[in-house]
Amino acid sequence: MSGHGEGLLSRYTDSLLGVFGTPQKVLVRGSGVTVWDADGREYLDLLAGIAVNALGHAHPGLTRAVAEQLNTLGHISNFFTSPTQIGLAEKLLELAHAPSGSKAFFTNSGTEANEAAFKLARRHGGGSRPRIIALEHGFHGRTMGALAMTHKPSYREPFEPLPGGVEWVPAGDAEALSAAVDETVAAVIIEPVQGEAGVRGHPAGYLEQAREITRAAGALLIFDEVQTGVGRTGTWFASAPAQSAAVIPDAMTLAKGLGGGFPIGAMLTFGEHTSSLLNPGQHGTTFGGNPAATAAALATLEVIESQNLLAHVREVSAYARERLEELDFVTEVRAHGLLIGLEIAAGAASAPAPAMVAAALEAGFIINATGPTTLRLAPPLIITTEQIQRFIDALPEIHRRSTS
Ligand SMILES: *Cc1c(COP(=O)(O)O)cnc(C)c1O
Repeated sequence: MSGHGEGLLSRYTDSLLGVFGTPQKVLVRGSGVTVWDADGREYLDLLAGIAVNALGHAHPGLTRAVAEQLNTLGHISNFFTSPTQIGLAEKLLELAHAPSGSKAFFTNSGTEANEAAFKLARRHGGGSRPRIIALEHGFHGRTMGALAMTHKPSYREPFEPLPGGVEWVPAGDAEALSAAVDETVAAVIIEPVQGEAGVRGHPAGYLEQAREITRAAGALLIFDEVQTGVGRTGTWFASAPAQSAAVIPDAMTLAKGLGGGFPIGAMLTFGEHTSSLLNPGQHGTTFGGNPAATAAALATLEVIESQNLLAHVREVSAYARERLEELDFVTEVRAHGLLIGLEIAAGAASAPAPAMVAAALEAGFIINATGPTTLRLAPPLIITTEQIQRFIDALPEIHRRSTS
């Protein structure tokens, strides 16, 4: 289909660095769970900017808070602070059941939050703990420190040498973790649910075991909740399925959903010891934690709370899981709240998932593939069962078109 969008896409190719390939569409507008492209076509957004637009698009509570903050005081540098920055730090520590002495550090992205965690680990390691343990298939970001902890060789190898000392153990394998962690390890970093790996959780008890193993060896436990945090899995954090069941790490990183679409990330450090590892002058950021971004995050948390969205996420998730499991071409549904991985039967096509992403777009749905047979759904937390049903109803035809 030719139109306004094609001209813009050719200008994109001429002017933007090619790291993302060619974008699927030029999007111009959004409202709730719906977005529109430059040719006026409408899409149901089941990806939400990769688990970012928690409140959907153009949520009035969020846009009002950001507009008011920008009209009042938008940026100030970290030589100063603001009420929204302090309020957000307090709120996140409260939601994370952080013990006294816990602190927050704000960034602009997930990778920066993990850079901060990497520096925290190095400080904890001193000279005697040079090793950092990460999980196979884990993803932690694209900047050099976060990249050094990311498993996928094709992401890392073109940029070596990277910061050293990182090793990977099989995900969800407590014995392998236990064998790897000793007094030479500074930190273990774990995604409670591995998002980029295709939405893969760990066996029950694994996070608790990781907590015990790291505590016994004196290593930090870092949870990367950049994708899973802030309500995405139907609780505030995937590592805290209930307050009583919360596994308290030494540090937690957040970003994606935190600002509801406004760029902001955070590292939370738990307890006095961890919070005193980074001292004045040892880390910093110009934009991180500015009034506009922290107002966006506060507004996002406020809407999640006042609209009771955590319960809503659990309800829509349970409904979607049941309906998706009924489809004969879906061999596995991994639903962690509204972060859902779907395994698609390979059949005649060896890579059905990317073909289904393209067919879904044609049919008016934005979804994502994390691998040749794996689809990922991460819709806005406000999506209704009717909206997700609309997608599930269309899925058999999307599958048929993409495999014939
Ligand atoms: C997306 C992601 C990151 C990186 O976040 P950016 O904001 O893209 O830098 C890090 N960790 C996890 C688990 C993620 O899903």
